Amino acid sequence: MDCIFCKIISGDIPSTKVYEDEHVYAFKDINPEAPVHVLIVPKEHIESVAHLDATHHSLIGHIHLIAKQIAEDAGIDQSGYRLLTNIGKDGGQSVLHLHYHLLGGRLLKWPPG
Ligand code: 5GP
Repeated sequence: MDCIFCKIISGDIPSTKVYEDEHVYAFKDINPEAPVHVLIVPKEHIESVAHLDATHHSLIGHIHLIAKQIAEDAGIDQSGYRLLTNIGKDGGQSVLHLHYHLLGGRLLKWPPG
């Protein structure tokens, strides 16, 4: 499959790993928008939230708990951070493999553009 995140997960494309387990891979964004910018990705190729079904319940909960742990490890859990996922064209999704952005380390503006 011609998916850049599948290639990162398999190691065919190098990345800076932050976390890995059987189901999830997390790595630093190549173009960080904040001092902490980590992408948290399921190893299973799922295109986006719009492609989830009931079998993914525990996976999505798992990703949230990993995000919490990564934020704590990065020392941004007290100051706050943002966890988001873009969905489809109007949502600004550029890589069609489900991923959560964990952003922090600075004051983040709202709303996004
Ligand atoms: P999206 O726009 O789909 O929500 O986010 C995709 C993210 O993937 C972007 O923030 C972009 O910088 C990041 N990205 C794209 N290609 C690569 C890559 O090859 N390596 C890494 N580490 N991040 C990437």
